[in-house]
Amino acid sequence: MENILFVASESTPFIKTGGLADVIGSLPQALKEHEQLEVRVILPLYDEIPEEWKEQMEYLTSIDVPFGWRNQEATIYTLRYHQIEYYFVENDYYFTRKGVYGYYDDGERFVFFAHAVIQFLANGYFKPDILHAHDWQAAIAVVLANIQKPLSDMRTVFTIHNIKYQGMMPIDIFEDFFNLDREHIGGLEWNGMLNCLKGALFHADKITTVSPTYAEEIKYPYYSEGLHPVLWQREQDVIGILNGIDTKEYNPLSDPYLSVNYRSARSKKIINRLDLGEELNFPMDLDKPLYVMVTRLTEQKGLHLVEHILEEFLQEEVQFIILGTGEKEFEDYFASLAYRYPEKARALLTFNEGLARKLYASADFFLMPSKFEPCGLAQLIALQYRTAPIVRETGGLKDTVQSYNEITGEGNGFSFTNYNAHDLLHAMRYALDIYHDPDHWQQLCSNFNGNRFSWKDSAKLYGQLYEQLVPTLIHG
Ligand code: ADP
Repeated sequence: MENILFVASESTPFIKTGGLADVIGSLPQALKEHEQLEVRVILPLYDEIPEEWKEQMEYLTSIDVPFGWRNQEATIYTLRYHQIEYYFVENDYYFTRKGVYGYYDDGERFVFFAHAVIQFLANGYFKPDILHAHDWQAAIAVVLANIQKPLSDMRTVFTIHNIKYQGMMPIDIFEDFFNLDREHIGGLEWNGMLNCLKGALFHADKITTVSPTYAEEIKYPYYSEGLHPVLWQREQDVIGILNGIDTKEYNPLSDPYLSVNYRSARSKKIINRLDLGEELNFPMDLDKPLYVMVTRLTEQKGLHLVEHILEEFLQEEVQFIILGTGEKEFEDYFASLAYRYPEKARALLTFNEGLARKLYASADFFLMPSKFEPCGLAQLIALQYRTAPIVRETGGLKDTVQSYNEITGEGNGFSFTNYNAHDLLHAMRYALDIYHDPDHWQQLCSNFNGNRFSWKDSAKLYGQLYEQLVPTLIHG
């Protein structure tokens, strides 16, 4: 057997809609480097993946995928990148479309993906000791691995990156999508629906989520999106392991998107800010601190709180830029605010890696007042670029950001506890006060030196978890 297969719906550098892609794009390398594990990754081959990658892919095989009462074909391609082997599942009908998610038949698309993964393993192209699936889009691979046993000794791990998205479908599609006995409906069913995420929670040998605090939070109804009873049942097998980031990739010292690279000099952050202002035709005012957001525009990210207080906050001597795409309500709100405050606010309603990096580098403060946040990578990236996060104390935000304490001089950002707009406003104003106090500001900035968010420690925890399932894995 040969170690681990990651099953996921997105990964940098090929395709990204959020933090999941960052994790899948960096954890395999960390496991290789720190734990000497061989990790391969299997992804859908979306049309959206840039040509430069498609040109490098090599045809591996075509497989017949049993899918409910019919067979569908899938073609598997491979590509080696940074010493990691990637497999891509091609099927024109399901994946040759614009974008990644958001189709009425997403359930069918990703159940098909899981069937293709299992068939690929059954055909013997790769024999992992552990199948490690991520989020609902890959969840059915765990269900099928456990029931159909394409490889008799293979164990399964499932990681919840966000419990809000569960992949729910009407129960009467069971025969259409699954060639399983009806006795297996029970493992997949939740509240009268087929629920992919619940299926994986039921079947996986081990369950992880992406921060210790979130692992606790999702045992309770406010955070569990209805699944807390299942998590209590599996309590012994659930562990929270904090995400890391690829600190070589997110490194202000070498980031190719920046106009000036830097280690810690604020003067160089300022140059980046002025250049970004020119690029955006936005009047950057160096007397005013810059607050930014880089985010999906969705309720999870605390945008209702921001809506409540931002206009009031803009009466202060500050500037604000948001980069994000998502729900129309929020796009309209930020566009209208920027229209009314052209000197103070700008809304960049697009998904753009380069702009994201430039904002992380240019800003003084990074806002992330999430309603819930499984781990959050954006605040970690902000810290790498020496930008102070202002966060709500939830999930991974709580595990990674400590509010600045004027008495002890400790802390790497600002935080507030309750999901309350004026508590956010208060934190943003406190941050402004600290910014205007040279001693405290210098202290806060020097505290960034202590940030350690590489994958090293967490890779070790994953290694230990895998070893519990397959004792011979690491040293065998
Ligand atoms: P989530 O996975 O919930 O979206 P994370 O904080 O874990 O949140 O990860 C978000 C990732 O997506 C970060 O790498 C962030 O920089 C990136 N991102 C979010 N929105 C945009 C955007 N509009 N343009 C470029 N990158 C974005």
